[in-house]
Amino acid sequence: MQPLKYLAGYPPHVLARVHALIEEGRLGAMLNERYGQLHAVRNDAQLYDYVQALKDRHLRKSVPLGKVLYDGKLQVMKHALGTHTSISRVQGDRLKASREIRIATVFRDAPAGFLKMIVVHELAHLKEAEHNKDFYRLCAHIEPDYHQLEFDTRLYLTELEMRAR
Ligand SMILES: [Zn+2]
Repeated sequence: MQPLKYLAGYPPHVLARVHALIEEGRLGAMLNERYGQLHAVRNDAQLYDYVQALKDRHLRKSVPLGKVLYDGKLQVMKHALGTHTSISRVQGDRLKASREIRIATVFRDAPAGFLKMIVVHELAHLKEAEHNKDFYRLCAHIEPDYHQLEFDTRLYLTELEMRAR
C-alpha cells in the first residue's frame, strides 16, 4: 500500500477505510456525491472579498487583512494547506501589522466546502499561530463542519494526485 501523504497522522483504522475506498475505485465518486457544489471565487479580487466577508462575520477585531491571493507555486502540504505571513510595515510613525493570505491555486477549482475550509484555517491563524487546541476550537466555531471538511479536503487532494498519475 502506498503511504497517504495528505493523511499522515490519522489513525490506522481511518487509513484502512481510505485504502479500501481507493482500491474499490470509489473515492472520487464519494467525494463528488458529497461535494458537488463548486464556488464562483475565480480570481484574487473575488478571493479577497470572500475572505474579508468571513473575517467580518467572525474575526472582526483581529488584524486587518493585507494581500489575499491564489498562489500557483504554493505546495499544499509543505505549507500545511496554505500560508499565513505576518508582514510588518511602517505606516507613518506606527508599525502596523497586516496579514497576507495565500491560498494554493488547487482550491480555485475545488468544491465550495474545501475553499471554505482552507480560508477558515488561514483566518484562524490570524489569532493562533500554532495548530493547537485553541486554533482548532476557533476553526470549528467559525465553521462547525471544519474537521470533516479538512479530512475530506485531504481525501480530495489524494484523489487529485492519483488522477494525475
Ligand atoms: Zn495552518
